[in-house]
Amino acid sequence: MQIPPFSLDEQISEIGDQIEEALIKVFRSGKYIGGEEVASFEEAFALAIQTSYSVSCNSGTDALILALRSLNIGEDDEVITSSFSFFATAEAITSVGARPVFVDIDPENYLMDLGLIEKAITPRTKAILPVHLFGHPIDMDKLMAIAQENNLKVIEDCAQATGSNWRGKPLGSYGNVGCFSFFPTKNLGAAGDAGAVTTNDFDLAKTIKELSIHGMPKRYLHTNIGYNSRLDSLQAAILNVKLTRLNKWIEQRKEIAINYINKLSMIEGIKLPSNTLINNSGHSWNQFVIRIMDNSFVQNIKITSEDISDNQNRDIFKSELQRRGVSTIIYYPIPIHLQPAYKDLGYKEGSLPITEKICNEVISLPIFPELKAIQQSYVIDKIKEIYEK
Ligand SMILES: *Cc1c(COP(=O)(O)O)cnc(C)c1O
Repeated sequence: MQIPPFSLDEQISEIGDQIEEALIKVFRSGKYIGGEEVASFEEAFALAIQTSYSVSCNSGTDALILALRSLNIGEDDEVITSSFSFFATAEAITSVGARPVFVDIDPENYLMDLGLIEKAITPRTKAILPVHLFGHPIDMDKLMAIAQENNLKVIEDCAQATGSNWRGKPLGSYGNVGCFSFFPTKNLGAAGDAGAVTTNDFDLAKTIKELSIHGMPKRYLHTNIGYNSRLDSLQAAILNVKLTRLNKWIEQRKEIAINYINKLSMIEGIKLPSNTLINNSGHSWNQFVIRIMDNSFVQNIKITSEDISDNQNRDIFKSELQRRGVSTIIYYPIPIHLQPAYKDLGYKEGSLPITEKICNEVISLPIFPELKAIQQSYVIDKIKEIYEK
């Protein structure tokens, strides 16, 4: 059996006809910018996230940039965030002229360690940018309390957390703004790049909308230097079809995650996502991430994998699974603060010890709503087989 880390095959055969119909309608209308589909997606997405407004844009990266710009964050400002994320989180901060300040993560949930935020605050700090990594909600009650006490803005990076919630309230509805990505592998995926910003603040929503269309509140009047970052009508048509299924897909992801947790809990040497998540968590399981701890199960196995990191156990685990037909991905092998592009920020190896350690241990198992029970059983059996050696 061959198991991919992610696949749209099933989904395309399930709802492909409906999506094609919606696409043809837009295509034949000859109107590809804005229009009905974009407006109705924005309305429906705001409703889903329980915010007053949602402004669509070109990507999750642009969502972050537009959000930062709308809050007037730029030159000389600092934004506190996590180095254990996709590069775009920090890239957005840098591209508006501000400086990302990384705090280490909590080894239990891989999210920003909330206890470290206040120590990272300086007179230049303007905002906190939490990342709900893998779909796991950060404690938004605590985070908002810290922000309020220190008069900081909050920009939620919900790129991997569409459909997640904290205590029943959707992520992206807590901060000043929530930033979403509809990259194809995210919980709600377009057929290309797409994103959105959510907010309850009318003025922010208006500014974000204007910035996404060349800083242009009305035709050919430009009050700001903005971007060309609209959501395509064709992508909006796809998202409108898919959004109605989001909750069902999250439920399917949850079932898969719980099954992995139940079936893999006996294996020593694998660290599973924390147990507190099993019941009623607001986790949407965009990724199912385990850690391959230091142990000796691999002593006699030769590495066939190309990616050789500081954790040979993980490399071998990955290549042994691959050999058995199970593909996995490492999110993320190098923390942002150690990326060559950020060498001038002044971080070095050892700056964020927990982030660095966890980057060396994590590996993501196949998870997507349509992953079949027999496919998942196969993955689980192969993992057990590797550990039985
Ligand atoms: C995917 C992602 C982004 C960027 O989204 P794009 O739509 O690819 O631009 C930002 N932050 C995180 C955490 C992501 O996973």
